[in-house]
Amino acid sequence: MQQFRSEHLLKCIHCGLCLQACPTYLETGSEAESPRGRIYLMRAVAEGRIRWEKGAVGHIDQCLSCRACETACPSGVEYGLLVEIARAQVERSDVRPSLRRWAKQLLLDIMTQPRAFAQAIGAGRVFSPLFGGSALPAPLARLLGVNHVVARLPRLSGSASRTRLADIYPPVGERRGTVGLVTGCVASVLFHHVNVATIEVLRYNGFEVVVPPRQGCCGALHLHNGFPEEARSRALSLIECFERADVEVVITNSAGCGSTMKEYHKLFACTSHEGRARAFAARVRDIMEFLHEVGLRAPSRPLTGRNGSGTLVVTYHDACHLAHGQGIRAQPRRLIRQIPGVTLVELEESDLCCGSAGIYNLLQPDMAARLLQRKVERIHATGAEVLLTGNPGCLAWIAQGLGDLPKPIAVMHPVELLSRAYTES
Ligand code: SF4
Ligand code: SF4
Repeated sequence: MQQFRSEHLLKCIHCGLCLQACPTYLETGSEAESPRGRIYLMRAVAEGRIRWEKGAVGHIDQCLSCRACETACPSGVEYGLLVEIARAQVERSDVRPSLRRWAKQLLLDIMTQPRAFAQAIGAGRVFSPLFGGSALPAPLARLLGVNHVVARLPRLSGSASRTRLADIYPPVGERRGTVGLVTGCVASVLFHHVNVATIEVLRYNGFEVVVPPRQGCCGALHLHNGFPEEARSRALSLIECFERADVEVVITNSAGCGSTMKEYHKLFACTSHEGRARAFAARVRDIMEFLHEVGLRAPSRPLTGRNGSGTLVVTYHDACHLAHGQGIRAQPRRLIRQIPGVTLVELEESDLCCGSAGIYNLLQPDMAARLLQRKVERIHATGAEVLLTGNPGCLAWIAQGLGDLPKPIAVMHPVELLSRAYTES
């Protein structure tokens, strides 16, 4: 079992500067639901003063793994790593009923196999009226311990499809290079259109796009939920897949996948694969980061706002694993501002988690719903027509929250807006 290292835990100097950045602390005002409180718990476990038991585990479960505390911390605490170790210890302890652990693993296994996930979504559509339209069947919800709030779980929406992409796409105009695209597991089923937009934008920017077949999953969902071994096996398959593709740059349009892949060397630390993992990680770029790095070929004709007139007013939500996990904040904003006809208005608390956080909204629906409500109110206050964000989970979750507003606000990945700007001009 993976153990805490004291040099990691002792980095925390208890200053409390992370507290106001932590969504669960802001919502509850409770020290136990803060990064500092959770680090106290981890240290108590590491020093053998307590064991993982139901109460302590509840505070770890409430954490979103958003890593906002890492950004705020002046002492360099690697909180994301600490909470991954805590979760792995919890899942290997006997604190959870084994049936509930099995259900969680089953959910993760289905979600991370695109074919199985697409079939499950299809079946869910057919049978969802039997379980109140929820994305989770009631028996599985019961096993996960969320049956009391099943009515508030995400609804099935969007178009689940597994349209196959070609293996290679040629560049438009003068060729600037070749890149590989990670299509994602959940994203390849629910966000095929974002992958298509990513390919189009890369092509319009002069890049040949290689899409290696049978990519599978990057391991992020398993890693963030306490199953590092399962994460490693998925990560290794992905690394091998892209080694065969032999591309210098690996592009992702998912913040959660990107931050995990950029840290593969930590996932494989002290194993025979550490060198390969480090080499792969160094090639990974978020799509916005990459376009900013190479310089965008700006679209020439403007997008227009509602009713085809005026500027298109958009706002931007910082996905946690882009802003806090990868430090990517300015690049998407600069690219959005380069689109003719688009006005970007800033969103209050733009880098506060929306509550999606992988499968957090399934496992902790009360806190997830509170954070979604907080996010929706702030988006509404901007007066924007479009909310942009660079992570599939945020896209789906925020779209659900905005769906109830009287005046529609579209939700898009920034690369979709860029794609529109190229294809509509
Ligand atoms: S990862 Fe996010 S929710 Fe968890 S302690 Fe840090 S700031 Fe709070
Ligand atoms: S900001 Fe860093 S050092 Fe200060 S309490 Fe939070 S985790 Fe500990």
